[in-house]
Amino acid sequence: MEDVKFIVEPQRETAVIMDVDVAVAGGGPAGFVSAIAAARNGAKTVLIERFNFLGGMAATGLPFLTFHNLLHEQIIKGIPQELVDRLVEIGASPGHIFCPHHVSFTTFDPEMLKYVALQMAEEAGVKLLFHTFVACPIIKDNVVKGLIVENKSGRQAILAKVVIDATGDADLAVAAGAPYEKREVSILQPGTLMFRMGNVDVDKIREYIVKHPESLPTETEWEKQRIWEPKYFQENKKFILVGLRNLVKEAREKGDYKSLQDFVILITLPREGEVAINMAKVIFDGSNALSLSNAELEGRKSVMDVANFLKTYVPGFENSYLVDTAHHIGVRETRRIVGDYMLTKEDVMNDKKFDDGIAMCGYFMDVHAPGGRQQHFRGGAIKGFDIPYRCLVPRNVENLLVAGRTISSTFEAQGAIRIMATCMAVGQAAGTAAALAAKEGITPRQLNIQRLRKTLKEQGAYF
Ligand SMILES: Cc1cc2nc3c(=O)[nH]c(=O)nc-3n(C[C@H](O)[C@H](O)[C@H](O)COP(=O)(O)OP(=O)(O)OC[C@H]3O[C@@H](n4cnc5c(N)ncnc54)[C@H](O)[C@@H]3O)c2cc1C
Repeated sequence: MEDVKFIVEPQRETAVIMDVDVAVAGGGPAGFVSAIAAARNGAKTVLIERFNFLGGMAATGLPFLTFHNLLHEQIIKGIPQELVDRLVEIGASPGHIFCPHHVSFTTFDPEMLKYVALQMAEEAGVKLLFHTFVACPIIKDNVVKGLIVENKSGRQAILAKVVIDATGDADLAVAAGAPYEKREVSILQPGTLMFRMGNVDVDKIREYIVKHPESLPTETEWEKQRIWEPKYFQENKKFILVGLRNLVKEAREKGDYKSLQDFVILITLPREGEVAINMAKVIFDGSNALSLSNAELEGRKSVMDVANFLKTYVPGFENSYLVDTAHHIGVRETRRIVGDYMLTKEDVMNDKKFDDGIAMCGYFMDVHAPGGRQQHFRGGAIKGFDIPYRCLVPRNVENLLVAGRTISSTFEAQGAIRIMATCMAVGQAAGTAAALAAKEGITPRQLNIQRLRKTLKEQGAYF
């Protein structure tokens, strides 16, 4: 590592702008559901988000991956389902759709998601602090007392009985001294700059797949087990397509495609002719600002490359145009905290149930491969596995919970639990736990877990 110089900042007084029961850092799927759950359970709650909307990666055109298990039983309900119901009600989502590859998926209009999430947070009484970056925790003797934020008003302090880190990278937990794991950048799952294309003739894509079944994935063992029938594309107007390796290969060989990813991932959005593209892949460290900045540069170049490829090579894209790119490059994996329990590959493979289970996941381990060229799918849960409460409780730190993709898990298990439906379900548990702990004047670690499970069951979240 190059030599780092340090300066000493002068000591200063920081104004306390709020004193709350629960402070949630980050307004992605885990964060906004945590905040709604905390507020609905009676906690005075603030949610701090660096951007100007709620949704995080849910605001990029990505669909929610599975609310179901392989038996097609719905294993995630509660606030996440309420959100989907509201999106369906206003015509912003067709609801859940079963899929041979992803168990089920739920496509929705990302702009409407932002609106509905905000509506639900406001109705619950969540105080929102947008345009605000969470800088670090306020901590004394390993006990978190609140957090320090930075925004246009300067540096400010927020005191809180319980803090939830839903930043996606465990920014707060790590700054508070929680142990964590992070793999080398060269083997971390790559990230992707999502973008949307409009005026796409989706029927033409469907016809192409039916005529060219070889364009569907059949290379890995997992893919062979989950054969995509072209019939699926005949019957479904809304789908996720993973494939078209043949067209990517042809374009690459002709020098017309330079991006890392060797296959197309396309998600049909609710509006006719609109699709989200998950292809502009970059290898970088999402918890390092310089690396992130470079990734935005590379990601944007890749978007142009991929969009040109789609227009030139993929039937149905001839008259399409770029609608927009995501608000930032998507990060799949950075830091994973080490909590009181670490979820493992075996737990996922064996549909493990836990006495302190607080949410479920029906997805398989989907770890994008080192080098960024191929995607690995390994093993698979059938009935779905539990997320233990202990995965939300970082070791060595009190009054702090973690929700979302950074909960305590090995990298393989993280490949499953990182999906947004599970992040939201975990968020509901974290928010509920934080509110109960704040009400009882105890730390989240001291919480009676059976009481938490009972509350979650009564509120239709975990059953
Ligand atoms: C390219 C890509 C494709 C994916 N595809 C799918 C898919 O198809 N379906 C699916 O279900 N999942 C998918 N995932 C996984 C899923 O999107 C994420 O794992 C999930 O969004 C994690 O939720 P989260 O709330 O933990 O984090 P995020 O969604 O990243 O939200 C974190 C929030 O915290 C805010 N924040 C971060 N740091 C700070 C700070 N210091 N101060 C203030 N605010 C902060 C961010 O602005 C953001 O709003 C994909 C992920 C990527 C990257």
